[in-house]
Amino acid sequence: MRSKIVAGNWKMNKNLIETEALLAELSAKLPDTDAEVMVAPTFVNLVPAVRSLEQSIIEVIAQNMHFAESGAYTGEISADMLLNIGVDTVIIGHSERRAYFGETDEILAKKVQAALENNMRVVFCFGEELEDRRSENHFEVVESQLKNALFSLEVSSWGKIVLAYEPVWAIGTGETATPDQAQEMHAFIRKTITEAYDASVANKVSILYGGSVKPGNAQEIFSKPDVDGGLIGGASLVADDFVAIIKAI
Ligand code: 13P
Repeated sequence: MRSKIVAGNWKMNKNLIETEALLAELSAKLPDTDAEVMVAPTFVNLVPAVRSLEQSIIEVIAQNMHFAESGAYTGEISADMLLNIGVDTVIIGHSERRAYFGETDEILAKKVQAALENNMRVVFCFGEELEDRRSENHFEVVESQLKNALFSLEVSSWGKIVLAYEPVWAIGTGETATPDQAQEMHAFIRKTITEAYDASVANKVSILYGGSVKPGNAQEIFSKPDVDGGLIGGASLVADDFVAIIKAI
């Protein structure tokens, strides 16, 4: 059985006061669920978030990290710094990191490697742009993103990997991939992993969908057999919406 996961990526939103208020509301309204629930506040609010969720099933995760252990990398955060405050899962490869901060597949492969060497869990994001889909190159693009960053990993490392397919054209646009488009790509991802490794690796990895998931569309997307949950942006900033999405899984 694969883990079901609902993760909220807060991106560059919510100051300290707002973070504490949202976490308090979420904790109060959190439904009983078999799914893993994660939230990714911004770096400066990780410590208070970990503290305020000490008694909660909600896991606090990071939005990014650097691949180096330490050193002269002004403005960056290491795996050790995250682990030291109780954060042991990190999002790597978000399309905004790729698009605005120049993170290439090569850099992302190093980040994944560094996270795994530190025994962290990775939520690895990838997905095609609108042009890729229009030109019907979306399968090739996704395959190469996976191959370049992940396919030299040992089989044993895959237990620490969660995948998040986020088509760039569906992020923050209100335009979701249809549930069938999501299923089609998730099945393709599993087939690609089966070819690179084997079916047991492919069948064990959770694959989340991300891109304009809302209370109104979550249930149908999550009902697809190869969709194991969601990585939620905008709707994770509103407690009632995030709770409704958790209930939909
Ligand atoms: P939205 O849910 O706001 O489209 O964002 C998705 C996302 O990028 C999550 O990482």
